[in-house]
Amino acid sequence: MKLSLLGKEAGLGFQSVHLVPGRGMCSRLHPHFHTVSVTLEGEPSERGMLVHIYRLKEVVQRLCLDLDHMVLLADYPPEVMTVEEQDSGYRVHVNGKDYFLPRSDVLRLPIRTLNVEDLCQHLAESLRDRLEPILDKRRIVSLTVDVDEGDGQTASVTLPIAR
Ligand SMILES: [Zn+2]
Repeated sequence: MKLSLLGKEAGLGFQSVHLVPGRGMCSRLHPHFHTVSVTLEGEPSERGMLVHIYRLKEVVQRLCLDLDHMVLLADYPPEVMTVEEQDSGYRVHVNGKDYFLPRSDVLRLPIRTLNVEDLCQHLAESLRDRLEPILDKRRIVSLTVDVDEGDGQTASVTLPIAR
């Protein structure tokens, strides 16, 4: 049995701003409107449920809120991008340019790029951790997370849950 929350229909997503090293338009700060879909696969309980879907939705919503309206920074190697902590924020040097970003607006992610593939992998692992208290590992086999960064550009990651 599979149970899904479809990001667009369920209102699960986040808006964020980022830039990518290199040339061209993506090297400038630009927004993305991400949607996050989640699918659990496993055997339903004797009450006919894989998980309480509203509790699942709450956890996904909270994860999305952490990223919403933030400037996302990946952990690029120093020859690509440097991030210097200053009193009230970060001085970011990338693509031959300097940005100063207030700390409150920035979310630094422990991922090597902000490609939708790396972002999806990170969100899937974060969700698996956050769902730990509500997933019955004897019955739930896997968690699939789909992240769409707009324009139909989507990555999908499936992680095992069962032990
Ligand atoms: Zn982008």
